[in-house]
Amino acid sequence: MRTIVVGAGLSGLAAAVTRAVAGDEVVVYEAAGHAGGRCRSYVDATLDCVIDNGNHLVLSGNPMVQSFLKTIGAHDALTGPDTAEFDFVDLKSGERWTLRPNEGLLPWWIFASDRRVPGTTPVDYVKLGALLAAGPAATVADLVPTDGPLWTKMMGPVLLAVLNTDPKLGSAKLTAAVLKETMAKGGRAYRPRIAHPNLGAAFIEPALRKLTELHALVHFGQRLRRIVFDHDKVIALEFPENTVPIGPSDRVVLAVPPWVAQDLVPGLSVPTEFRAIVNAHFKVAPLPDAPKMLGVVGGTAEWIFAFEDRVSVTVSGAD
Ligand SMILES: Cc1cc2nc3c(=O)[nH]c(=O)nc-3n(C[C@H](O)[C@H](O)[C@H](O)COP(=O)(O)OP(=O)(O)OC[C@H]3O[C@@H](n4cnc5c(N)ncnc54)[C@H](O)[C@@H]3O)c2cc1C
Repeated sequence: MRTIVVGAGLSGLAAAVTRAVAGDEVVVYEAAGHAGGRCRSYVDATLDCVIDNGNHLVLSGNPMVQSFLKTIGAHDALTGPDTAEFDFVDLKSGERWTLRPNEGLLPWWIFASDRRVPGTTPVDYVKLGALLAAGPAATVADLVPTDGPLWTKMMGPVLLAVLNTDPKLGSAKLTAAVLKETMAKGGRAYRPRIAHPNLGAAFIEPALRKLTELHALVHFGQRLRRIVFDHDKVIALEFPENTVPIGPSDRVVLAVPPWVAQDLVPGLSVPTEFRAIVNAHFKVAPLPDAPKMLGVVGGTAEWIFAFEDRVSVTVSGAD
């Protein structure tokens, strides 16, 4: 069987690797001159160093990320603490604290005042359970208190990063899906993990190497212009310089952003609202004892990442 993948972002690469490992003949067409899409690294001429197009955080319990990294031979490409630990600073009060959830399923850390958010009580955390029964239309603010120390010092900044939208207006159902995969599974499911030394080295270059090893072809500079349909069947893909006929046993995976997919597939229903993320990169070596990732309360940025040769800040929902 032949699988044609359009788009070599993380979704397209994951689809291509999965099908190539399964034995398909795989061909990838990517519009840009490089792979990685929104999850890539590049040499920034001003800073004269490799930076990521955006700071990415993944959590240790994300099964799809772990399985993808294992398949491409990059299982050791993410770095982070051995236990779930999150450092925070409140810029207004100067207060600093470290959130230290315990590893196992039973969340006894919420009863330990030196592990939980200062000023919170165990009852505050129990109230988050209301999110787990969320219906499709509910916002986070409909179900849980959005004031008080737990919200301002933890849930607000964490959910802003997770949802990239004002967390009060964010979907309670999506939030619940994240909580079920992380907090509900104990600290070992949400140890913070960052690509080392960068996104390209961790996710993209090993995936391209794996595809080469499996004899898959990746064509760059090939923007899919039109999908030719015969009723509900795809019969050809039109690129600027060639048309690829699609046979009955071929499979086409469209791994492009929603607004592109909508143009290519008439009538496709896609998300229509998006929020910006701004990252600022500073070419300054962090202090030796700086945490690798610091949550910031009361500032413009919500997270500060310390890399060996630079410091990066992230502002989510940054429109
Ligand atoms: C700043 C930033 C920070 C982020 N932080 C996190 C994080 O901390 N944790 C996390 O899990 N996720 C994070 N994300 C989200 C994550 O990067 C994306 O979900 C993921 O990279 C999307 O991959 P994708 O392959 O679906 O889409 P894309 O990366 O957009 O890839 C689509 C590809 O299709 C190509 N393409 C488009 N049109 C065509 C066409 N017509 N023909 C051929 N090719 C085409 C594009 O060039 C691109 O390479 C972040 C994203 C950004 C931007």
